[in-house]
Amino acid sequence: MVKKSDLAFYGGPKSIPVYDDSMFHWPIVTHEDLSAVNDVIRAGTMSGTTLTKQFEKEFADWNGCKYALGACNGTAAITAALWACGVGAGDEVICPSMTYWASCACVLNLGGTVNFADIDPVSLCLDPKDIEHRIGPRTKAIIVVHYCGHPADMDAIMAVAKRHNVKVIEDNSHAVGSLYKGRKCGTLGDIAGMSMMAGKAFAIGEAGMMLTNDRELYERCIAYGHYERTGAPSRFNPVDRQITMPDLLPYIGLPLGGVKHRMNQTCAAMGRVQLEYFQERINEIDQAMNYFMDRIENRIDGLIGHRTPRNSGLSMGGWYVPACHYNPEKFGGLPAERFSELVRAEGIHCVNGVNSPLHLFNFFHTADIFHQGRPTALAFGQRDVRQGKGACPVSESLSNRLVQVPWFKHFRPDEIDQYVDGVCKVAEYVSNHLILCTA
Ligand SMILES: *Cc1c(COP(=O)(O)O)cnc(C)c1O
Repeated sequence: MVKKSDLAFYGGPKSIPVYDDSMFHWPIVTHEDLSAVNDVIRAGTMSGTTLTKQFEKEFADWNGCKYALGACNGTAAITAALWACGVGAGDEVICPSMTYWASCACVLNLGGTVNFADIDPVSLCLDPKDIEHRIGPRTKAIIVVHYCGHPADMDAIMAVAKRHNVKVIEDNSHAVGSLYKGRKCGTLGDIAGMSMMAGKAFAIGEAGMMLTNDRELYERCIAYGHYERTGAPSRFNPVDRQITMPDLLPYIGLPLGGVKHRMNQTCAAMGRVQLEYFQERINEIDQAMNYFMDRIENRIDGLIGHRTPRNSGLSMGGWYVPACHYNPEKFGGLPAERFSELVRAEGIHCVNGVNSPLHLFNFFHTADIFHQGRPTALAFGQRDVRQGKGACPVSESLSNRLVQVPWFKHFRPDEIDQYVDGVCKVAEYVSNHLILCTA
């Protein structure tokens, strides 16, 4: 039986005495990445688009999609996608409350407002049952986030969207390589935007990407933030006109968003190298994470992996932010925050929750971004869809029902076993000392 003095938190030996950077380091970088980036710097082509276009083509092909467009970051790619879908002043967008702010904060910059929906407690993605009643005459788009790599229930979401003629934008920042019924996440809706910043599933620096099969949406994203591709002469790039739509042509040379979304080519160069090895690397992550989750679920009553069922045609891609559903009732009501503190002391990454529910942030309630003397969330004739505590109960309770676990990049069963043992030590102690711990 585990004693209090066995826990590292109370002075016992740490389960993982030394942090193993080789197990967790991400992205995996080799001389190939370094030499590709070096070439760009030496040639001075950071602001070019030749390599970025090759990367776009390869990324689109890998995903099984027609068009990809690089961006300076994920926030930019999502903003352009929203604008391309027609989101403007007075419009509404539906977005899950449980996501990173960049999924939808830019809706306010476009003069729209966000109607936050709740998430499904198992997938942690937009709950398809919480969408339809939120759709109004000004609803233009639904943002779907494949949260922590888990594919959202796209069939159900697309069905609602089609019924109401609303566009679906996937925020694929967590789920590059995840599969939904055999198809890649990011190619399932009308358009997708995603982050490729240093910490994400596909990590190449400060970069982002848009994916779509729709030529019109693609052109609108170009027109919004890529003046150099509208046909204007440029010192760094050959004349390049990728737009054909008559309503965009009069604006050649200036971006309609008034912004510049070009990807730094050091990122594009690294992206091409990363893409070559990505499938192989996420396959190993998948194997390692499923190995870990199988053992945790077998040995601990109260922790269940946030993952897709095997042989379902669904997969977790690179497992960005792996986590377990935490059932506090199985641990005598011990808050997830306390449980994760005990695990962390063992030298094992564990944090309760992921993001804070967005519908409660003042930004979406009172921020006056355009200096109009009123909240931007309703400054352009939007319905007041702001929501307070209790509106999205699953999102609001998630910080006590989810704990992050280590993100293994390599399938080394003996090493992973030590992490499993460490979590089990804590879980066993807590289960046997429920009253002690809740005090
Ligand atoms: C990181 C992230 C973004 C923003 O991407 P940046 O590249 O940081 O601008 C958007 N959505 C989600 C869900 C993210 O995790």
